[in-house]
Amino acid sequence: MTELLSRPAGTGAIAALIMDLQSLGLRIETRLETSRTGGAGPTDSGMLWIEGVPVTVPPSTTSPYSLRAEDGGQGIYRDGVKLASVGGTARPRFYDLTTADGIPYHQIALLHLDSLASTVVQACNYWGNSDQCGFCGIGISLAAGATIARKTPEMLAEVAVAAKELDGAVDATLTTGSSVAPDRGALYVAKCGQAVKEAAGLPVEVQFEPPRQLSTIDEVHGMGVDAVGIHIESFDPAVLARVAPGKFRTGIETYFRTWEYAVERFGEGRVSTYVILGMGEDPEVTIAGCKRAVDMGVYPFVVPLRPVAGSLMADVPAPSREYTEPIYRKVAGFLADRGLGADTAVAGCARCQACSSLNLVQRETGRPPGGRPELPLLQIARRPA
Ligand code: SF4
Repeated sequence: MTELLSRPAGTGAIAALIMDLQSLGLRIETRLETSRTGGAGPTDSGMLWIEGVPVTVPPSTTSPYSLRAEDGGQGIYRDGVKLASVGGTARPRFYDLTTADGIPYHQIALLHLDSLASTVVQACNYWGNSDQCGFCGIGISLAAGATIARKTPEMLAEVAVAAKELDGAVDATLTTGSSVAPDRGALYVAKCGQAVKEAAGLPVEVQFEPPRQLSTIDEVHGMGVDAVGIHIESFDPAVLARVAPGKFRTGIETYFRTWEYAVERFGEGRVSTYVILGMGEDPEVTIAGCKRAVDMGVYPFVVPLRPVAGSLMADVPAPSREYTEPIYRKVAGFLADRGLGADTAVAGCARCQACSSLNLVQRETGRPPGGRPELPLLQIARRPA
């Protein structure tokens, strides 16, 4: 039997649907040309706009939710009932272009809804050994020939201009695998970010591991990028040791020290970290870690685990909405108290929010410092208890 869920605020209903989709996935019964497989961090997703909200969802053959074609667009259905309209799933136009030496633009960068994204160095010193992060797929897309190993600043600048002009990209998110060099790859990804910003004028976030010397953060800042992502992935030390041994060795306190230094340079809200839910972590430890991060001006971008085909955690199920929602609510409250939100992030994953419902939940509280436009009231079908 299906229970209809109606919440007093429209934002809450759509947030509930999105949390369910990010847990249960979406059966694709039509064409979805905006998808991503592999890459750094938690990946494997269809990318779509649900009632005007950017969302990434894992494809699934067993989900009760399906994406169907309909006159003039697409919709999300459950038990034959339409729950939401979907748009923006057409193939980006810049994907059909190539560089002068024949490299397809889509092998250089992808459009994640309205954010241009690229892994500028598609290799990581943790990949393929006992340090490999369990949730990561950085080597998978390279092995599949979907991307190239190293993108140059010039390539990225060229693609960014096209993505902005042809497809309306509003920012750029550049990440990199970790390097053994003292800067851990931060300076190269920042150089790429500088080139994108100068050529296309887009706000840019660059993502890297904590450099050995904090002065590297000054060099990154000096290159003019707008925001940085330095991703701890889990605040639970036992989980970090198990799923990301290289990051565990870096040390949780090193992340805090690096964030504190970065906030002094970039400003509050412009430093973010992924926090992945559903890897066996203690929720209280996770919430306390998020609170400590927010208290120093860091945006903890809380996301559900997205099992990536071919990754070490491919068989670990995504967490349920019943698990993620209370954590979103706690962290959203911390963010609201501190005056942080998607808009203060300026660029990158925390600005985009498509992989999380954190900003939707924060807006539901009525205390967002900014964010996407208001959403219509929507009734959704909820899976049976
Ligand atoms: S540090 Fe971990 S998540 Fe990042 S690219 Fe390397 S293996 Fe992937």
